[in-house]
Amino acid sequence: MESFNIDLDDINLDVVYKSFSSLQSGIPYSEELQRMSFDDAVTSDVFSPEQIRRDFPILHQRINGKPLIWFDNAATTQKPKVVIDAVARFYATDNSNIHRAAHTLAGRATDAYEKARDTVRNFIHAAAPEEIVFVRGTTEGINLIVQTYGRKYIGEGDEIIISTLDHHANIVPWQQLAKEKKARLLAIPIDDNGDIILEAYERLLGPKTKVVSFGHVNNTFGTVAPVRTMIEMARRYNARTVIDGAQSIAHTPVDVQKLDCDFFVFSGHKIYAPNGIGAVYGKRELLELLPPWQGGGNMIKDVTIEETQFNVPPARFEAGTPNVAGAVGLGAALDYVKRIGLGAIGTYEHELTEYARTRLSAIKGLHLLGNPRERVSVVSFILDGVPTIEAGQLLDKEGIALRAGHHCAQPALRRFGVEASIRPSFSFYNTKEEIDRLIEAILKVTRQAL
Ligand SMILES: *Cc1c(COP(=O)(O)O)cnc(C)c1O
Repeated sequence: MESFNIDLDDINLDVVYKSFSSLQSGIPYSEELQRMSFDDAVTSDVFSPEQIRRDFPILHQRINGKPLIWFDNAATTQKPKVVIDAVARFYATDNSNIHRAAHTLAGRATDAYEKARDTVRNFIHAAAPEEIVFVRGTTEGINLIVQTYGRKYIGEGDEIIISTLDHHANIVPWQQLAKEKKARLLAIPIDDNGDIILEAYERLLGPKTKVVSFGHVNNTFGTVAPVRTMIEMARRYNARTVIDGAQSIAHTPVDVQKLDCDFFVFSGHKIYAPNGIGAVYGKRELLELLPPWQGGGNMIKDVTIEETQFNVPPARFEAGTPNVAGAVGLGAALDYVKRIGLGAIGTYEHELTEYARTRLSAIKGLHLLGNPRERVSVVSFILDGVPTIEAGQLLDKEGIALRAGHHCAQPALRRFGVEASIRPSFSFYNTKEEIDRLIEAILKVTRQAL
């Protein structure tokens, strides 16, 4: 195994100070970011998975004597050195609490945090940084929306629409709210391909629909939801829309203004950023109407023992000391992805996914689950004669890390009559050679089982 050390001498303090002084000099960060980033379309010719692999220290090790193959990207992604370095650099040179103290490090930490917010805004094409709320991840983000928008606007007899494809993070919080408010929770059915049935969705919509909340990309079959159409249909009934972007953020460009969704949520760790940081996008005029959900520091304007005046968004929703280093790491990850280009990434990952589907479907006794019209990055299957969890353990012996279980999407799997599946999920650092090795390993596992 290659050892990996962060050499503090390598840390480029110029970058740190440049970002700080650009604020001092009045140059808005967004301009600097625009200079740094490339257009998606122009970068496809420089796309190279081999080069990308070199940026990810964790990939260069052996597991059980075999080179590691990381096919568990839908659960979490690995981190490039630029992200690890950005977090280390923050702690080595800039660490401070933010927004409060009037000293130099507080200024730098605050700048870094707010710069990261603007990087998120730019990445998902939100109109203003005030529309970006930092949270721990998708789960916390959806809970924030449920506890603020949901508690204020959803009442007895109202209807909440989700989808059968959804992750538990987009089911449980709405279910809890529905029980508390005596509202109804309805789930859009899916067909045998794992696609959303739009006609059934249309029938669920009505004057009582208050919110439609669903996953942009499903984590079990890789289904890409017809998100624009679905949002447009919800709008006709004046329903609010929440998009769970946990699975789409790393694989497909997102423009929240073009989508015209009310909320969009994602987790940093699914797009090569650290754990414990993610973001909620909310339309500004909507966020302004919402009450806070957690009380404490930073979310206030003025506090007496009797009363509190709350801060404006996004601070209103960010009580307490935030994960500043996580936000810095998220900013670095988004810059990294942007430099490579989501257009090129999506094309390459689509190629990998289709290659995997073709090779897997040729294996006797292997059953692919779902065959969605539009799909990205994820494939699910079961094997005759090999219990799913056992298959996962046997593949680990071959150095292959993938998910074998229910993937926090039990209703989606049960629609296919199974409780668990084997799920490789691909990223831009995976290769066709790795898929070939997976195929060989599966053949070995199934032979052993016979
Ligand atoms: C991973 C995932 C979540 C939950 O994300 P956390 O980072 O665990 O909060 C929600 N929805 C989908 C589609 C996911 O893939």
